[in-house]
Amino acid sequence: MTIIGIDDTDSRERGMCTTYIADTVARRLKCRGATVERVLLIRCNPAVEYKTRGNAALAIHTDASVETAFQAASRTIDDVAETSDDRTNPGLVVAPGDPDRVPEAVVRFARDAVDDHLTRAAAQTLADRVGYRRHGWKNGRGIIGALTAIGAWQAFGEWTYERITYREPSRWGTDRAVDPDSVFEAADARYPAVWDTVDRGTGEVVCVPRTPGPILYGIRGDNPEACQAVAEGIESEPVDRARTFCTNQGTDGHLRDGTLESVRDGYAYRLDGCVLSAPETRRGGHVFFGVGDDERTIDCVAFEPTKRFRNRVRDLHVGDRVTVCGEVSDGTLKLEKFAIRGLITTEPTTPTCPECGRTMESAGSGQGYRCRDCDTSSPGTVDRPIERDLEVGWYEVPPRARRHIAKPLIRGGFDGPTHPER
Ligand code: ATP
Repeated sequence: MTIIGIDDTDSRERGMCTTYIADTVARRLKCRGATVERVLLIRCNPAVEYKTRGNAALAIHTDASVETAFQAASRTIDDVAETSDDRTNPGLVVAPGDPDRVPEAVVRFARDAVDDHLTRAAAQTLADRVGYRRHGWKNGRGIIGALTAIGAWQAFGEWTYERITYREPSRWGTDRAVDPDSVFEAADARYPAVWDTVDRGTGEVVCVPRTPGPILYGIRGDNPEACQAVAEGIESEPVDRARTFCTNQGTDGHLRDGTLESVRDGYAYRLDGCVLSAPETRRGGHVFFGVGDDERTIDCVAFEPTKRFRNRVRDLHVGDRVTVCGEVSDGTLKLEKFAIRGLITTEPTTPTCPECGRTMESAGSGQGYRCRDCDTSSPGTVDRPIERDLEVGWYEVPPRARRHIAKPLIRGGFDGPTHPER
């Protein structure tokens, strides 16, 4: 077996997509008589500053020789990659051997690439040390993702699928013609094996990108047959080609278990704490609140595009015990999901007079409350039950705001009840 790793071939403005390049390489190998066993779409650390969009890297598992694989991939990158964009720096790595038997150092590199920051030099040194064939275009930064894609099959244990359909090249850059009703119908027929196709709360189709690249739509799910069935049920402009990718999307691979004191910018965490400051909606509709313990606090934010998720966040009360998940930047955790671990069910309030029913007044600092009219008193505040709309368990952003690598609650495996967004 031979593994081909490819990354950093596309441009935000000019389009293209590394999945399209990988599909083209796979097709060219097939034309030369080789078999392609699978193509992996690996989402690396979404906090990496160089990413174009979703920080994707691709791997092709084939029985072609290293030489044939290297020639096919490097010619395809020469032909198709958007290297005229300053920010596009393709990398190619070709490894001999079974994807299940990659050297341990490459497996570790792949794991680190999803939740940490790595360097080109580290990737080059490691690829040379283990004897992989490599090539970089321009500054060659893509080697980081390319080497990650090589180690991914052994590094990760949880896989999902995406059926990606591509447009006819003559239509690239024009509006996509996809019938939304057919998308909803197909998505409903296979939910929840297939997820994040549509947002049922806003009525939006989320499987159709708005960027200028070659993708028509991508159908994500736990099961490749279901993804393909949904893709085939959609009515649209002609599909030029399609491929099912095996991926680490929807797995939360980027989240580290962290503590409030260990938090650093540029990493994504799961953090336990208490709500210390009440949710507050600020300019732009973003909702902020503070989470912490006796020592530290971190601001958390639910951004405006998370829409109805902000109402769940607004329901939080000071004192609720929570787990918050998301990437930290500028000291603020950008919420992807949270769990309620313990709900506050009462709040301290000024007592009412048992005689007249009116709210008592303060009797002076540390002297409790009294009712002047009835001459009644109370030593302090009393606990009043509060109505809570939230329940214990996990809440998440809706499909329209989901990051590629974030795990939808509907996939299961969470340590508590879940309240999935559809
Ligand atoms: P698209 O999703 O549209 O395919 P992209 O978001 O994948 O684009 P790339 O063009 O691949 O963006 O750019 C990401 C760059 O970051 C690549 O050069 C890749 O090698 C590099 N990279 C990936 N993971 C890491 C990491 N953990 N640390 C440092 N650099 C990384």
